[in-house]
Amino acid sequence: MALMITDDCINCDVCEPECPNEAIFLGPLIYQIHPDKCTECVGHFDEPQCQQVCPVACIPVDPQHRESRDELQAKYDRLQAASRPA
Ligand code: SF4
Ligand code: SF4
Repeated sequence: MALMITDDCINCDVCEPECPNEAIFLGPLIYQIHPDKCTECVGHFDEPQCQQVCPVACIPVDPQHRESRDELQAKYDRLQAASRPA
């Protein structure tokens, strides 16, 4: 599953640099997670890094983007292939 940031976010900025997929960005009001880039940290870490650092625990799984571990791994593989120099 991709994760999402709820409106409890206090814009503390600590999660954005922790994301290995650059999936976190500052939206109009609060930080947001791009679902096409979030692998729940599969391929990089055992635990979602953003959840580990968020001081207000406002990063749950996104019910709109439920994915199996295999699907997350495939997303990771796609992201890696896209980031390789041609
Ligand atoms: S779970 Fe991992 S990949 Fe997804 S937004 Fe958080 S840090 Fe980024
Ligand atoms: S760590 Fe949590 S509170 Fe801080 S910017 Fe990220 S989502 Fe918002």
